[in-house]
Amino acid sequence: MELTRRDLFKFGGVAAAGAATAGVLAGCSPSTASSSSDEAAATTGSWRDQPEMPTEFAETVDCDLVVVGAGNGGLVAATTAAQNGAKVVVLEKAGAIAMAREAIGALNSNLASDHKEDVPTLINHAATVNAGDINAPLYKTWAEKSGEMIEWMKETLEPKGMLFPFEWHAPDDPHAYYPAMCYNPCLDEYNPDGPNYGAYMHLEVMSDVFTNDLGGEIRFNTPA
Ligand SMILES: Cc1cc2nc3c(=O)[nH]c(=O)nc-3n(C[C@H](O)[C@H](O)[C@H](O)COP(=O)(O)OP(=O)(O)OC[C@H]3O[C@@H](n4cnc5c(N)ncnc54)[C@H](O)[C@@H]3O)c2cc1C
Repeated sequence: MELTRRDLFKFGGVAAAGAATAGVLAGCSPSTASSSSDEAAATTGSWRDQPEMPTEFAETVDCDLVVVGAGNGGLVAATTAAQNGAKVVVLEKAGAIAMAREAIGALNSNLASDHKEDVPTLINHAATVNAGDINAPLYKTWAEKSGEMIEWMKETLEPKGMLFPFEWHAPDDPHAYYPAMCYNPCLDEYNPDGPNYGAYMHLEVMSDVFTNDLGGEIRFNTPA
């Protein structure tokens, strides 16, 4: 319970290995029979199997865009589309929006204009310290687009009281996977020494903007 994000940075290699193992174990574990036939259908068979199409409809909803999952990706997509005039419905299988998490890595934004990273140098560094095992196109997309993303997020959430404090980590060890630059969105106030009780709030605030300001709809307990 007392593990902080910084601890995870410190033990990132261990945490990543643990996560990978957990994923493999979860993937290998036998699927358990469920009491509900719907749940059983969802947990058996291959993801390649085409699901049976429903034949009965309780309700028909007209919209321009359906977003699956009210998480970090889904809420950003839904809010952006709604800002551009689309009628958006988000289907969320859980009873609440996903966890926001804490730090958002973003490069070369005008929020911290004196911190600039050269993208090819950074990707080379990432490839070197990971023995070449990186998804370079994905990394490049993040490196090139994340600045624009954090500027959009600030513009969208700042009117609701969110702050976007910038953190710059540059340790002495040149072989560490730093330097890292990130934003830690907090509601109302930010204490660099912590704790920050208004942290982890950007998805809560974004869902407020999406539903209350932009007229979007999130349907909870609704798996797609
Ligand atoms: C403990 C922890 C700490 C982390 N800290 C950070 C951090 O500090 N900074 C950082 O950048 N990243 C962090 N991450 C990683 C980050 O949380 C994920 O990379 C990110 O949330 C992924 O976003 P996503 O939109 O793909 O998925 P999610 O945010 O998980 O959203 C997916 C959503 O889709 C819903 N869903 C799934 N299937 C269906 C379906 N069939 N129908 C309807 N809904 C569905 C899920 O219920 C969920 O709400 C952390 C992760 C963990 C576990």
